[in-house]
Amino acid sequence: MRRSREFLFPRRNYLMGAYVGKSDRVLGWGKPMGGWKWIGLGAVMIAVGLAARAAENQPGGPTQSKNVILMIPDGCAVEAYTLARWIKGKELAVDGLEVALVKTHSADSVITDSAPAASAYATGVRTSNAFLSVGPQAKVLSLLAPPGEDLPYRPLATVLEGAKLLGKSTGIAVTCRVTHATPAAFMAHLPHRDDEQNIMIQVVHQNVDVVLGGGRELLLPTSAGGKRTDGRDLTTVLKARGYQMPETRQQLAQIRSGKVFGLFAPGHLAPEIDRPTIAPEQPSLEEMTRKAIELLKTDPDGFFLMVEGSQIDWACHANDPAYLVHEVLMFDRAVAAAAEFARQDGQTLLMVVADHGTGGVTIGNRGPLSKGNMPVEAVVEPIRRMKCSFSALWKKLGSRPTAQQLSEVLQDSWGIEVKPSEAEELLAEARRGGEYLLAALCQRYTVVGWTTHGHTGGDVVLFTLGPGKPKGVLASPQVGQCIAQALGIDLEKLNARLFVEPNQVLPGVKVELVFDPEGEPNLHPAAEKPLPKANPERSPPGAKQPRLARLEYGQRRIQLPLQENVVQRGDRTVELEGLCLYASQTKRLYVPMQVIRLLADSPEPLPPITRSR
Ligand SMILES: [Zn+2]
Repeated sequence: MRRSREFLFPRRNYLMGAYVGKSDRVLGWGKPMGGWKWIGLGAVMIAVGLAARAAENQPGGPTQSKNVILMIPDGCAVEAYTLARWIKGKELAVDGLEVALVKTHSADSVITDSAPAASAYATGVRTSNAFLSVGPQAKVLSLLAPPGEDLPYRPLATVLEGAKLLGKSTGIAVTCRVTHATPAAFMAHLPHRDDEQNIMIQVVHQNVDVVLGGGRELLLPTSAGGKRTDGRDLTTVLKARGYQMPETRQQLAQIRSGKVFGLFAPGHLAPEIDRPTIAPEQPSLEEMTRKAIELLKTDPDGFFLMVEGSQIDWACHANDPAYLVHEVLMFDRAVAAAAEFARQDGQTLLMVVADHGTGGVTIGNRGPLSKGNMPVEAVVEPIRRMKCSFSALWKKLGSRPTAQQLSEVLQDSWGIEVKPSEAEELLAEARRGGEYLLAALCQRYTVVGWTTHGHTGGDVVLFTLGPGKPKGVLASPQVGQCIAQALGIDLEKLNARLFVEPNQVLPGVKVELVFDPEGEPNLHPAAEKPLPKANPERSPPGAKQPRLARLEYGQRRIQLPLQENVVQRGDRTVELEGLCLYASQTKRLYVPMQVIRLLADSPEPLPPITRSR
């Protein structure tokens, strides 16, 4: 049993970068881990020995990279690349790269969702479905070891946060809302991916140098045309921090330097296949990737950039081959841009890896075109004739189309010549719903097959280029560990620097939480530290977060707005190097070590986060 546990879920890697504390049960089987070393204040002990041993077991080499570019084609199973390659008619940009495989399951599901998948890449720790860079809930898959007692809901430092502490520039470029699961896992810490209003508060306080994507509506209150129900206007934060805020591709193109928070749509960006028609003012993923690299590469300390082809996943959820191929081919152009830079630069690790498959896409289905030898044209021609996404086609059909109207729309939009004998059958499918019509069209007129409208549980391909690239079959957290290693970050030390519980490192701190500054303060006795339940309830989206934590130690009193990176002392406000966070499920407060130094009035320097060589 123990062997199979380790096989699926290497215990060192599982906990690496996550555990900071005093328990000797860090491995979950009551074994002391040894190698303790005292650093910092009070009772902080950091498992330096554990980190060093874990580093030895990492699949990458010891090489350090100046820059890391991580590119995630969300939901892209290997056959989606193959399909796109046939349509392109020549090699994809990933074809020239080296490959490894990545196991995708989350802590509590054989089939992952994007949140824990991206969290594993961001933090080097596997977490539960829907969780964004916080520790997994106690209940995990039957073959996995349970998490250590301090791990559930604990914020887990991300490689983006680590890169910032090393003085590197950071960037995010996506085609979804920047608060959607994949980008959120690099910039926010919450146990529910749908909690996008809170995610945006954290995102604007992360000081990421370049943020490109969609989701403008989450910056503004409903009274100003946005979607925020807390009345906050987060653009004031961005303006105060000197961000340029382009809203079109022309405005983005004109930017030559400085910090950028470019959201080009109220919600998600348009599907690539429809963008030139319905949203020509939006930049493509390739344009955003090139601009991000252009801006970030000027930093002499290097950079970390995460690029996501967000809508490959949605095309596969919809089982829409035209939407899919255009998304993969645009992602391929973004990869080409990044690979071109990485090859010239020579100090950049490029990793291209999906988070999971979606749709179960195959070349070959149960329809007539898949029988016998398959010519290239059988794959290519039907998809080349499709001029818009299926959802755009469906809109053109209106609510009650006739067989004649259906035939005309299929001819105009997807180049399908419907025989009169088939028109009534297709109309019957259309009356059942769009997904039935689409399934019938795929089966009859393409060679593309689908097995699900959801995600799939298979391994995904990791394509790599540059120094420090990993080999073999990796557990998903090892991708995050490789990135940390390439950047020279020790994830244990990073977590000990960014997220400490005040009372664990400085006994005697009084903590008071304020849920609503106008309302009654919610007194939170500092001694209270309930353990997480065996299977705690997941936080519903938008679970009420306290707005402030007031900390008192001796004569010192400070105020920490939660989910932000600032400390208020008297009428002074100072920016911190990381976020102050409260885990409502475990009632624990996490603050950067900087806050502890301030409270203790300690001149001691902050502990380093780099790996010892
Ligand atoms: Zn995904």
